Amino acid sequence: MTNVLRTLVFDGQVSLTVADTTAIVKKAIQLHKLSPVSAYVFGKAISAMTFASACLKGEKGEISLAVKTEGEAVDIAVSGNHQLGLRGYIENTKIQGDDFWEGEKRALGQNGSLTIIRDDGYARPFVGSCAIPNPATVDTAFETYYAVSEQLPTRIVTDVRLDEKGRCVYAAVAVLQPLPFADNAALNATQTTDLQALLDEVQKQGIEQAVKAVFMVDATVWETRIAKYKCNCSRPYLKKLIISLGEPQMRQIIAEDGAVRVHCHYCNKDYAFTEEDADSMFGKKENK
Ligand SMILES: [Zn+2]
Repeated sequence: MTNVLRTLVFDGQVSLTVADTTAIVKKAIQLHKLSPVSAYVFGKAISAMTFASACLKGEKGEISLAVKTEGEAVDIAVSGNHQLGLRGYIENTKIQGDDFWEGEKRALGQNGSLTIIRDDGYARPFVGSCAIPNPATVDTAFETYYAVSEQLPTRIVTDVRLDEKGRCVYAAVAVLQPLPFADNAALNATQTTDLQALLDEVQKQGIEQAVKAVFMVDATVWETRIAKYKCNCSRPYLKKLIISLGEPQMRQIIAEDGAVRVHCHYCNKDYAFTEEDADSMFGKKENK
């Protein structure tokens, strides 16, 4: 099912992106066994990055987020690509508390930074970063990033709702970004539109109906796409990395630990490469 919609609103002067990220956040909670507060904060970050991924231009485009903070989250990383495959992790998967708002501030904490590496697949990647504002929220951090690093006055609202058992019942993101020629009326409309109300409607009636109702637009020109939680790790990919370690190193690790073990932070999967793998990668050891 399509879960990302992009279109232009306010006389074609402002781009609107809306994504229902419920399935992505559910998958993240399941893979990383996130506590409710960790799920809330990470769910917001991966929702915002679903928007950032939808902006990538080239087929080979990739974008990565790194949040570093003295707050309880410690590290948050999310990567997405042009195909809208999203993956990531939050270092502290067990942030405690009942109040999500207050938990988000503790998670992002003091002296945090947000860095984004955007590679549209054409030229050199663009690297931008900003300090996480105070009080710290995912939405304000992204708005600050776009204002400071990309000079784009952007409105971002993310929403993550969990039930009493910590399961995600709804997650979404809505973003307004004025185009360079936007006039004052369009800029004002960008600032005053109630994006939370839009997300409430998305939960009730789905993205397309909600956008039609809130922006009074008919099914005009819009793009709908599918975003998913998708890790791109695989045994063949990791084998290539291990080959670059070299045979002696690989054989030594296997001799000491029984296998070369690799943990993928993005999907929480463990891989083990044994003597047999080493033989297939480098050829069978002689005089064995
Ligand atoms: Zn993985």
